[in-house]
Amino acid sequence: MTCDCCGSTTWTPRFAENGITLRQCESCDLLSIDDIPVPEKRMTEMEEGHYAGNLSIVDASKQSRAEQVQLARFENFVRLGREHVPGGRWLDIGCGAGVLLQVAQREGFEVEGIELSADRRALAAQATGATIHGRPVEDVAYPDASFDVISLINVFSHLISPMHTFGELRRILRPGGVVVMATGEMTAGVAKADMLHWNLGDHLHFLGDRTMQRYADTVGFEVLHHDRQWLPDAMFSREWLRAKGRSGPKNALKTTIDRTPGGLALLRAVMLRRQADSSAHASEFVLRTTQQD
Ligand SMILES: [Zn+2]
Repeated sequence: MTCDCCGSTTWTPRFAENGITLRQCESCDLLSIDDIPVPEKRMTEMEEGHYAGNLSIVDASKQSRAEQVQLARFENFVRLGREHVPGGRWLDIGCGAGVLLQVAQREGFEVEGIELSADRRALAAQATGATIHGRPVEDVAYPDASFDVISLINVFSHLISPMHTFGELRRILRPGGVVVMATGEMTAGVAKADMLHWNLGDHLHFLGDRTMQRYADTVGFEVLHHDRQWLPDAMFSREWLRAKGRSGPKNALKTTIDRTPGGLALLRAVMLRRQADSSAHASEFVLRTTQQD
């Protein structure tokens, strides 16, 4: 297979999950699964709420609660965008139930969203009163220079061709406009044990060490901000323990920790210790369009 980022065909297999193998490109470090679905199949998966045969996409009401828990994180993303572009039009791709868009609206941006899952799209439209498209950004056919800020929070890993999508973002951003992005970034020595669940099949790609810079150089972005974190601090909260996700065993574990005196503090200590050794990061980026010749 050909690397989406650099076009190389030389890969190193890393590990498999659910019979799906994750490989790493030797020249740009991009991690990709073997069998990237065609766009039509991916759309059907998103609309029907499952992927890779039988795994479920988190339902809309759970998604909405999960976003509320992470409100501080979304406020941080809007602050990051505002540092570089004080106002204008903000597009959130994969806007979920619309919490980030609500924050951007409060900060004075005119907002629009894209969300492929119908339930979440309805919640986002209700929450913001804004236009929320149900098609990939490439299919919306925005005019050139339509937006000042475009955010992609936990979206990169789901893109069929990030190169294709970045090229489109470059086109629809105004000169000097920025992309605010958060996604998984895996540094050298990444191993299966670095994450509880990789959700391979729903996740198609992860950034490696050199990947974002390579995409930016090729597409015409300058990397203004790059911060590698592990799990966001907001994750270690009572609200997070009580918001249930898609994994049964993980939900049971969260309930146990919630009911155990000192459980949350212990979890935090264990996770922070793991974080120190981990090669898996939740990274955030701000990319600005470079001057066109
Ligand atoms: Zn590559």
